[in-house]
Amino acid sequence: LGIEPEVLRADQLYKEGRYLEATKTALVKRDEIARILKEVSGREVPAGWCPFDACCQSCGRTNTTKVTGFDLDEETVSYVCQCGHSGQAPMRGGGKLAWRVDWPARWKILNVTFEPFGKDHATAGGSYDTGKRISEEIYGYPAPYPVVYEWIHLKGKGAMHSSTGLVVTIQEMLDVVPPEVLRYLIIRNKPEKHIEFDPGLPLLSLVDEYDQQKGEERALELSNIGKRQPFQIPFRHMVTAVQIAREDQDLLMTALQRSGYDTSRQEEILGRARNVQIWLERYAPPFVKFQLREELPKEAHNLSSEEKEALGKLALDIGDRSAAEIHDLIYEVASDQGLDSKKFFQAVYISFLGERQGPKAGWFLASLDRDFVVERLLEASRAA
Ligand SMILES: [Zn+2]
Repeated sequence: LGIEPEVLRADQLYKEGRYLEATKTALVKRDEIARILKEVSGREVPAGWCPFDACCQSCGRTNTTKVTGFDLDEETVSYVCQCGHSGQAPMRGGGKLAWRVDWPARWKILNVTFEPFGKDHATAGGSYDTGKRISEEIYGYPAPYPVVYEWIHLKGKGAMHSSTGLVVTIQEMLDVVPPEVLRYLIIRNKPEKHIEFDPGLPLLSLVDEYDQQKGEERALELSNIGKRQPFQIPFRHMVTAVQIAREDQDLLMTALQRSGYDTSRQEEILGRARNVQIWLERYAPPFVKFQLREELPKEAHNLSSEEKEALGKLALDIGDRSAAEIHDLIYEVASDQGLDSKKFFQAVYISFLGERQGPKAGWFLASLDRDFVVERLLEASRAA
């Protein structure tokens, strides 16, 4: 994603003693914390509750121990465990603060001023609400500015969450979307609105919306951390070119050049070609996929004589026209020959793909070797 976080692990921080002061304060102010928890969440803490959970040195569990006392000088807590073991656990690494205390303690330890968190922590009386008061009243530290975010939904499946097991990892998303576009998908949404990730056809529109800078200006700006110029080749056209090239990188570049695109940003083109390749394998609807036939498809023999005649006309007129000009020419020829343009487009696709549909015809034909195109059109026009 181009974001390089520094990861701090809580167990490491505990072992290093970074939580030591916060742990002592919590143990000393146990009753005040219990009162805050009750006032904010409405729930009384169980009798004998302790803000520090000791880890049993015999069985290794934390949810079976009960803290019975502590020694501030020795920096230990005494505990008994359901397994029958009892002893002293060090405050450094011998256990951890209960989540609702750990979180505000962490704000002070790490000087947190801005805290984004999932909506599950944001309910009234939830852990942000109790954390805010514990932070301010127990630790004397102003609670960080909260930003509550929603989940990412996978189209048609629901919220992605580790607890539901419905997860598409960032890496899997990056397999099909360039990083700047994935950043844009996240940033363009308000945090409190859920994000719909649709890996099907709408993914192409998302990429094009980013490339063509059609979205909200600030979101686009924030997504482009590499400050790169927008990518010029429409993603939809990449889907066509990749299927023509069939993993041949030189042919991919040639196909793109033929349809009038600049291929100097080769690394980016190859990155997107990989995205497209995986997208075709995993998510593309069947009608987007095609295969260029090496021989004239047998379906071409069933074309009407008018259609064949029009294909011959197209072969003679195509010359060295550009992609857009070829597209216009197809309409022109259809009209001159008195053919329904939709029918004629189908005849073109049948001649090359053996199917009635295909990618945007002008750009598709322009991507191919021109002699091959002329040859194939003539062949189709003569098919008996
Ligand atoms: Zn135990």
